[in-house]
Amino acid sequence: MDLESLMRLSVPSMQRSHQLSMEAKAEAGGGGREGALIVISVFLLSLKALISIVHLALPNDSLIFSFSVGERMTMGRNGTSSCMVLSCSITRIYPSMVSLSLPLRENPAPALWMAGNTVVLFDFDRTIIDGDSDNRVITEMGLTSLFNKLRFNLPWNSLMDRMLEELHSQGKTVEDITECLKGTPLDQHIIAAIKAAHALGCELRIISDANLFYIETILEHQGVLGCFSRIDTNPSFVDEEGRLRILPFHDLSSTPHGCKLCPPNMCKGLVIDQIQASVSDSGVKRIIYLGDGNGDYCPTLKLGENDFVMPRKKYPLWKHIHGNPKLIKAQVHEWSTGEELERILLHLIDTNPIQDKIISGNASQSN
Ligand SMILES: [Mg+2]
Repeated sequence: MDLESLMRLSVPSMQRSHQLSMEAKAEAGGGGREGALIVISVFLLSLKALISIVHLALPNDSLIFSFSVGERMTMGRNGTSSCMVLSCSITRIYPSMVSLSLPLRENPAPALWMAGNTVVLFDFDRTIIDGDSDNRVITEMGLTSLFNKLRFNLPWNSLMDRMLEELHSQGKTVEDITECLKGTPLDQHIIAAIKAAHALGCELRIISDANLFYIETILEHQGVLGCFSRIDTNPSFVDEEGRLRILPFHDLSSTPHGCKLCPPNMCKGLVIDQIQASVSDSGVKRIIYLGDGNGDYCPTLKLGENDFVMPRKKYPLWKHIHGNPKLIKAQVHEWSTGEELERILLHLIDTNPIQDKIISGNASQSN
């Protein structure tokens, strides 16, 4: 297909936004004008031939070149002058329309585009940190005996508040608790995964049944708190006596959330509902959910077929999923170690499930 035929095919509606233009001017006047035209025509023919050769060597998408020679009139104080104008425009069109093509790097790669439309939801205990922040404070600050005594008498959320009351009565301060939390180990692969996902443009959130003070203290100490746009968890505050308090995420005095899968103080599935409602108005979004516990099963059931769930292998969420896989619409990718979490998460961010679906759909149609 020659260049003129190609240009006729590239109707305006098929053009994309990127257009570059270059102009070369050749002064034209008197008898030199015809000579200039001949020189430029020879130059254009040579350039066409060169581009055709390049095109044969590079069959990827998607540039089209067009050339024209015209005359530009300029009205000046000293009268009218003219110059010949050689225009070369480079227009991007769909690959299927082009037989003349060069690779383009102007648009973001698909991975970056998808990363900007990805919400990564992390559980906290046994997901971001390997252990449990509540248990760390209990064991490291000498509350194991009282915890074992009360553990079957109080809901978990109330039990943790009672533990903090005990610490206060023993003269332990909020600073003491902070120092205890700062000692929480965090896998370097998970820190790297958080920073990389954030750098790629993903929106990172935490959805946890721990509490805000523990989570913020640990993440700030590890230097990754700023990577997260939102933390949905049990609220905490320091009261007028200097005692750290923990409250339930859902107000227990109001109407119960009604979810039989989740504890009374927090239904993570309701948080997923809110996220899905908020992102549905802002274009294509997908969720990557990472968790381990029983409380992560309810939100997992609400994920769609373009979403991913990353259950920690052999933990309760993983067992729920494998107990009845047909209930899960999201793609499941299990992990065990921080290294696996980092590798799998970054791979999923780099995956376009919608594109994959289109490709697989086309393949099935052609079969
Ligand atoms: Mg957990």
